[in-house]
Amino acid sequence: MFESLQDRLGSILNGLTGRGALSDKDVSAALREVRRALLEADVALEVVRDFTDKVREKAVGSEVLKSIKPGQMVVKIVHDELVEMLGSEGVAIDLNAPSPVVVMMVGLQGSGKTTTTGKIAARLTQRDRRKVLMASLDTRRPAAQEQLRQIGEQTGVETLPIIPGQSPTDIAGRAVQAAKLGGHDVVILDTAGRTHIDEPLMVEMANIRQKANPHEILLVADALTGQDAVNLARNFDDRVGITGLVLTRMDGDGRGGAALSMRAVTGKPIKLIGVGEKMDALEEFHPKRIADRILGMGDIVSLVEKAAETIDAEKAQAMAERMKAGKFDLNDLEDQLKQMQKLGGVGGIMGMMPGVGKMKDQMAAAGVDDSIFKRQLAIISSMTRRERAHPELLKHSRKKRIAAGSGTSAADINKLLKMHRQMGDMMKSMGGKGKKGGMLGKMM
Ligand code: GDP
Repeated sequence: MFESLQDRLGSILNGLTGRGALSDKDVSAALREVRRALLEADVALEVVRDFTDKVREKAVGSEVLKSIKPGQMVVKIVHDELVEMLGSEGVAIDLNAPSPVVVMMVGLQGSGKTTTTGKIAARLTQRDRRKVLMASLDTRRPAAQEQLRQIGEQTGVETLPIIPGQSPTDIAGRAVQAAKLGGHDVVILDTAGRTHIDEPLMVEMANIRQKANPHEILLVADALTGQDAVNLARNFDDRVGITGLVLTRMDGDGRGGAALSMRAVTGKPIKLIGVGEKMDALEEFHPKRIADRILGMGDIVSLVEKAAETIDAEKAQAMAERMKAGKFDLNDLEDQLKQMQKLGGVGGIMGMMPGVGKMKDQMAAAGVDDSIFKRQLAIISSMTRRERAHPELLKHSRKKRIAAGSGTSAADINKLLKMHRQMGDMMKSMGGKGKKGGMLGKMM
């Protein structure tokens, strides 16, 4: 999977990294090539367009770090956008619900639905020690229920006894009931597929959903299907409402377009990938790893990341020196606020500390949220450079102008100035003591 795309992207971006300065023309030409490569890999047109727009926007606006060549910066931007397109973080199957948790598998015939049902059940049973029940709701294909029974036997997972003549919704109801009585943690429903999407299939899926109230609805899709995969995902999501995707046959030599577009089109995470016919050929999906594989330029990406860290550290060091000397002005405060935003605002910073979920809620209740940063940054950006360096200049008429310019009030400005003064005092009192950079130097 992805081999040809990898080759293409590699040579396009290598062409960029080789050179010194990079013009807009170079970037545009490279992006045209990237666009073509993605389309050839069968990525949906709308996704490709969105992708190249975002890369262009970031490439144009980005300040190139001093130890990095502009082309390397572009590689990093393309990499980050790829990760974003694939969904940033890996997301596991969510079993956080009262038992029995119902997982419903949907998808076209031949997509690998039954096999994947078996793989997930086997993993939950063997690795996670969950008590699992599987049930086939496929009453159209005569051998379907028998196929799942055999998989159950082979993997040591219980299957719902087959009662001929029952409707899919009745089987679903019986499965949930049996799981309740049997004390099962999870019940996986393997639904029927068709060779293509049709109305009766969608109605059947909606009925089963209503009856079984699944916590997860996973769309199983063959990674080798091209553009069709996007329509498939969109249809299932609109009509049935999926919670995640499973891509099968990622072991094949497809071009990978489906894999790259489905998540972007539905906004639903790819939770698992199938990488073979065997029951253990199931893997978690890691967007970053896949992006690394597609781009094959991990060394450049980490080089740019390092450089960015170094710049931040240098900035922090310089700021710490200024603070120690009692020179913390509003330009510095602006830098600090931006840094906080970069870390994801209040939520992001709190999210990095373990066990602070509650505190976050309390802060939100007290009205401390990211809008405060935004307001403060707006205030500072409405000031002249001189005012930022000399806040003592800010008297009534200047405050009025700044309030009007930033859409805030004089009271907001006073609050900001007070906070800045307090920070300055605190820093001065810390500055004299301690080692190089003081405590804040270490904190940043
Ligand atoms: P269903 O009709 O959606 O239930 O599809 P099946 O589960 O019966 O799978 C159809 C075929 O695809 C079977 O031969 C499976 O062994 C095969 N298959 C399923 N998942 C994968 C996978 O991840 N990789 C490969 N190579 N084959 C798979």
